[in-house]
Amino acid sequence: MSHEGIRFVAKGEQETETTLPRIAVTPQKVRVLLSEGKGVEIDWSDGHRSAWSFAWLRAACPCATCVEERKQEGRKPGQPKSKATELLPMYTPPAKPLSAQAVGRYAIQFNWQDGHGGGIYSWEYLRRMCQCQECGFAREETAGAVN
Ligand SMILES: [Zn+2]
Ligand SMILES: [Zn+2]
Repeated sequence: MSHEGIRFVAKGEQETETTLPRIAVTPQKVRVLLSEGKGVEIDWSDGHRSAWSFAWLRAACPCATCVEERKQEGRKPGQPKSKATELLPMYTPPAKPLSAQAVGRYAIQFNWQDGHGGGIYSWEYLRRMCQCQECGFAREETAGAVN
């Protein structure tokens, strides 16, 4: 019996960056700054802290319609629609939800002022989209999206 040509991969090696440790996607504290109109802050169980503005969250809506729309326009999650693509540019007030609610233990959902509300933002999705500098550098290619 020969093991020639067969490579045994240790379990750890197979892990890709698509797997986040549970502790990194478990929020310890979630603050939805609704009245301030600011955004969402999460303290994660691994000690990391993330924050997103409502405008960013609205433009990162993970519902099928928005995902498809972003794909067609070549936008990244959180990247606002370019004004140039609108035929009649109108003033749009910054996105703000009327309310937010937890979805089970794994996600949060917003009821946006503009009537939209189908997007379910899982903790994992949000953690992956952490806006802090550290995570931004780790994702590299978001450079240039700095406000
Ligand atoms: Zn959506
Ligand atoms: Zn981060």
